[in-house]
Amino acid sequence: MKANSVLVHCCCAHCAAYTVDYWRQQGYEVSALWYNPNIHPYMEHQHRLEAMKSLAQEVNLPLITTEGYDIVDYFRQVAGHEPQRCQYCFRLRLLKTAETAHQRGFNAFTTSLLISPHQKHDLLREIGNKISKERGIDFLYTDLRKRYSDSRHMTKGLNLYRQQYCGCVYSEWERYAKRD
Ligand code: SF4
Repeated sequence: MKANSVLVHCCCAHCAAYTVDYWRQQGYEVSALWYNPNIHPYMEHQHRLEAMKSLAQEVNLPLITTEGYDIVDYFRQVAGHEPQRCQYCFRLRLLKTAETAHQRGFNAFTTSLLISPHQKHDLLREIGNKISKERGIDFLYTDLRKRYSDSRHMTKGLNLYRQQYCGCVYSEWERYAKRD
């Protein structure tokens, strides 16, 4: 592993494309982690994972996938905190990324969520920095939101599955209930 290696938590192929490219441009040896038990239902999770695998193959990106699908952990953590659920969701995913990065000898961790204008950006930064202090591994922060459409442009020709909502059943409900 190079001295400046980073494990990037990838929320989907479309956010991962530019994010991975960006950290490579900064001189990092980049690997990706797929850990998204917030994506419901299960087959939606599988469609997004398949898209991520295709992207990884396309750009020669090492991809780590975790065992199982921790949907029970996700619901146990957000239960009773539904209005603040993103905070628990971010922590669950970033903590797994930091732990995996630490175990596997990476120098740092980050997430493709930082490219999305739909996510709570400041909260992500705060949680990433907190986990970094707790676990003793660097959290790489940068604001990539202006490159969101570039990232989608990069995956346009790959014919990958494209999701219509953030991930959890609550977000699916909000997305389609608004439309109805
Ligand atoms: S809306 Fe998105 S970030 Fe928030 S809890 Fe649901 S899946 Fe997680």
